[in-house]
Amino acid sequence: MVFQLTDEQAAVVELVREFVTREVLPVASRLDRNERPEDCFSWELVEKASAAGLRTLTLDEEYGGSGVDFVTTALAVEELAKGDMGLAVVFAQTWKLAQTLQLAGTAEQRARYLPAYAADPRGLLAITFTEPDTASDYFVPHDGARYATTAVEAEGGWRLNGLKHFISNGNRASLYIVFAQTDVAQSLEHGSTAFLVPRDTPGLSIGRVHDKLGERLANNAEVIFEDVFVPDADVLGEPGQGFRVQQTFFPASNAYAAATVLGVAEAAYDRALAWARQRVQGGKPIIQHDSLASDLAELRMWLDATRLYVLHAAWAGDHPEAWDPMLGALPKVLASEVGWRVLTRAMEVHGGYGYMKETGMEKLLRDAAAFLHSDGVNRTLLLKAAKHLR
Ligand SMILES: Cc1cc2nc3c(=O)[nH]c(=O)nc-3n(C[C@H](O)[C@H](O)[C@H](O)COP(=O)(O)OP(=O)(O)OC[C@H]3O[C@@H](n4cnc5c(N)ncnc54)[C@H](O)[C@@H]3O)c2cc1C
Repeated sequence: MVFQLTDEQAAVVELVREFVTREVLPVASRLDRNERPEDCFSWELVEKASAAGLRTLTLDEEYGGSGVDFVTTALAVEELAKGDMGLAVVFAQTWKLAQTLQLAGTAEQRARYLPAYAADPRGLLAITFTEPDTASDYFVPHDGARYATTAVEAEGGWRLNGLKHFISNGNRASLYIVFAQTDVAQSLEHGSTAFLVPRDTPGLSIGRVHDKLGERLANNAEVIFEDVFVPDADVLGEPGQGFRVQQTFFPASNAYAAATVLGVAEAAYDRALAWARQRVQGGKPIIQHDSLASDLAELRMWLDATRLYVLHAAWAGDHPEAWDPMLGALPKVLASEVGWRVLTRAMEVHGGYGYMKETGMEKLLRDAAAFLHSDGVNRTLLLKAAKHLR
């Protein structure tokens, strides 16, 4: 067991760190403050990330990407989130779905979609499970659980109808993976199918862009399907096997969500440490007060332990023989709980200043809250993990 980055991993982390310092930190809080959610998103940042080779980090080298593994991707997500959580979500989704397409797509689908994704400096990806009335049900399915979005067989393909909401990159993606009910007599566990749907397909439109508390540099939107024709060639996996696709081809999804909130918590911890070293009260820098220093040591312990768990999960994704399904549910639970704890304590280290927008702690707090609510609510993920105990 080697607790050391490889040269390639260290180089990727350094590349992201430089990008964050040069391009993200100077603009993130200004973008975050825009009133309209659409104005918080920046194509300029996406294009700059493309030019730096970041957008296609997980794309195989044969398509012009870097083809990094799950561990390296998790490290990149964490580093990007130290700059801004929303931007980290924009890329974590895209990086993860490029990996999914490479794992689950046929050779013909890869040849059709991946070069176009590589060539487009604005090429982003999105995945659509959630509907207003079907949400936690796709994490903990039961006999009555169905997607309201349906795909009905038509000549040479399928007709898709329905509405998905809360979708990260929903209004920005050029390609979607869409989950729909193809057999309404069955639960979504046995009667749903995954489809590849390009943005410009007739009948696909964007509804509301959601106005979020934090993670604002990422947009979330409704995606609407009205009689959208999807050819058979764009079924991802097998018809009726959508749930299997979801279970099998997203091994590091939970780890990436965890890495995102971990990056935000680390940014908050770093600021609290710097503040404690320079803020003088009680006649000395406040870090010289034992109780405050031990508080910071405790936060460091939580962060280090969480980081190991996240990297263990990503590593197990890279080593299917060592995979444990618990690792597909629990790291995000830990990271989001730790993230929230670190944020509230790091704010407190800043005293009254922590509550003022000028220190930037409130943005980090709003951002950290996002993963208590996304990629599965924690209770739901614990239920998903508990299934494997029975
Ligand atoms: C910022 C953000 C980004 C997102 N991005 C995407 C995306 O890209 N793609 C996508 O498809 N979705 C996305 N989502 C949706 C997200 O995964 C869902 O919001 C989440 O799964 C919860 O669904 P819900 O809000 O409808 O809550 P509900 O399912 O209504 O849950 C409400 C409460 O009930 C509890 N609960 C639910 N079922 C059970 C049960 N069986 N037993 C006990 N308690 C239960 C839950 O734990 C929760 O506390 C995103 C959400 C957010 C907030």
